[in-house]
Amino acid sequence: MSTLQTTASLETVELSKSFGGVKAIDAATVSFLPGKINALIGPNGSGKTTFFNCVTGMIKPDSGSIRYSGKDITGRSPHRVTRSGIGRSFQLCRIFGRMTVLDNVLVAARTHGLRDALASPRNAGEIESARGWLARVGLDHLEGVEAGNLSYGQQKLLELAGVLMAEPDLIMLDEPAGGVNPALIGRIGTLVRELNAEGRTFLIVEHNMDMVMSLSDHVVVFDRGRPIAEGPPSVVQADPRVLEAYLGV
Ligand code: ADP
Ligand code: MG
Repeated sequence: MSTLQTTASLETVELSKSFGGVKAIDAATVSFLPGKINALIGPNGSGKTTFFNCVTGMIKPDSGSIRYSGKDITGRSPHRVTRSGIGRSFQLCRIFGRMTVLDNVLVAARTHGLRDALASPRNAGEIESARGWLARVGLDHLEGVEAGNLSYGQQKLLELAGVLMAEPDLIMLDEPAGGVNPALIGRIGTLVRELNAEGRTFLIVEHNMDMVMSLSDHVVVFDRGRPIAEGPPSVVQADPRVLEAYLGV
């Protein structure tokens, strides 16, 4: 935990990405608060996941730029983005159901693809680290179980343990509470708070407004691929533009 910076700043300038005629991200200029828990909210189809995909190098933006911790990371490959200090989870959880819980965390730590990860011998340090993160998310007692047997909420926690193996300074979570039972939503929230207190910055896309409002320091609202409001949760919640975007009034 010694290498953590509190300068994990993320900003985009005029970022755009279209799919055919659809402007998924439309000249979005937005910045998030380093060291804080940031939320990105907005109606379905407003471009939140596409924004995550652009930042993490899964898709290349058509134009505009992405800066992280003072460096231009626009167009970097996902592996290089990971090495820059950004970790992410997926809206539809990415785990290997037929592999054990422990193996899932170990594979997540290897950035050179699944085949290499399975072929290369594990070292004791990695196993110790994987067990540490499993304990941290509360799954250490299940390390030998096939991951497909976990509840969906436990799978989300497992995915988070894998993300943490890379020691990210910025953690991007795409709908961490989606489909998760209330008890585990509580645990995910507590973990986010603890990890943030240790210096990790968060950017969370989430539809569960109780979670967003209770957890985040700063909220950015997307509509049609661009920010329409931002600020502390209480301010954003009362913003007429936000109500309009959600309710269409
Ligand atoms: P959100 O995560 O806010 O629900 P998305 O980023 O998933 O929004 O989608 C934004 C828009 O881009 C939607 O209109 C969606 O249909 C479109 N879109 C997203 N990904 C693709 C893709 N790979 N191909 C075509 N259209 C896409
Ligand atoms: Mg999405």
